[in-house]
Amino acid sequence: MLRLALFLFLAIGLPCEAQMIVKKPTSVAKSSEAAQVSLDSLKIAHRAFHPKAYAAERPFVLKNDSAKKPKNIIFMIGDGMGISQITAGMYTNFNYLHLERSSHVGLIKTHSADDLVTDSAASATSFASGVKTYNGAIGVDLDTAAVPNLVEMAEAKGMKTGLVATSTIVHATPACYYSHRKSRALYEEIATDLPKSGVDIFIGGGRQYFDMRSDGRNVIAELEAEGYEIRNNIFRTDQLTDQEKVGIFTHWNHPGRYLGGRDYLMPASKYAVQHLEDAEKGFFLMIEGSQIDWGGHANDSDYIITEMIEFDLAIGEIMDFVEANGETLLVITADHETGGYAINPGSSLTPGASKNDTIAAAFTTDHHTAVMVPVFAIGPGAHEFSGVYDNTEIFYKMKALLELRKED
Ligand SMILES: [Zn+2]
Repeated sequence: MLRLALFLFLAIGLPCEAQMIVKKPTSVAKSSEAAQVSLDSLKIAHRAFHPKAYAAERPFVLKNDSAKKPKNIIFMIGDGMGISQITAGMYTNFNYLHLERSSHVGLIKTHSADDLVTDSAASATSFASGVKTYNGAIGVDLDTAAVPNLVEMAEAKGMKTGLVATSTIVHATPACYYSHRKSRALYEEIATDLPKSGVDIFIGGGRQYFDMRSDGRNVIAELEAEGYEIRNNIFRTDQLTDQEKVGIFTHWNHPGRYLGGRDYLMPASKYAVQHLEDAEKGFFLMIEGSQIDWGGHANDSDYIITEMIEFDLAIGEIMDFVEANGETLLVITADHETGGYAINPGSSLTPGASKNDTIAAAFTTDHHTAVMVPVFAIGPGAHEFSGVYDNTEIFYKMKALLELRKED
């Protein structure tokens, strides 16, 4: 907490409150030097009215505690899905995405504790455990101590849980829901945390980290000893398992891109819901469209757009369930934006166009950026997700809505 405050003080360069002098902003700036003075004065004056603007943890209360609470939460993360990625997918998909069926929209600040530009691990730890931590952290705080996550709390309450990804299942985003490791690169160590996690269904790639390991350990056998039925690539909902726990591997390593023939996100999401929906005390399901981010890193607009539209196909399937079910909250967001992706002049919206070349794309980087990303919600409790807030609040809102306790 103190380290975080110190970091923010150093990183953002704001004076501590005791030293703060509120200067009257100068009038119109005429030179760049004058503009700097004016901006500093303005920031100081502004912060005087918002003393907690940079506080790491603010007291959290639900906007409407008496409103109907959800029995289940489905949390969908589009990795690297900023506003431009959504917009490009929408225009390319005949000017429509299922995302538009959301009833509430908000914005989140994504910075991590040690970098204004977060990585997926720090951001997923914020979503899963409510702490700002360093880039690369898997479910641990700045001191590398394990922080309890939503899956652990939900399991302790008797809920069922699930994880679906189009990356490996040991990749940063899904890992933060069952593992506590000091680095996201420790894939084999992360894999060993899955058997005892309690997760009732997982779907993703990376089987090599379970039974083709450098240490010869067979983590598939450990999963089976914990009651998991282990399968490869089975998503037909007429092939549900009788086992309470199931793990489905989609690839020995990273699943390929949608353009390369991988198209399981929608059927896998549907399969996971059908496996979980009869849970007496409700369920928590995380679904990640992992590769919108990889399209951003590759500065490949077609890659981004196809991954975005596939993610939205899964959103449509989940929206149908949420609307019919009535007890499920759906929250959709991103961990960060990737690529500084932009839709430039020269783009056109051609009704019926079958190609993706109507988006004149530009990129500012092949890394992530620090822009805020949108949050979409529908279902009981959706109103809590409107507004502008930190990514850590996603955790606090979900925890409060599911009435979970850290000590459970
Ligand atoms: Zn990335």
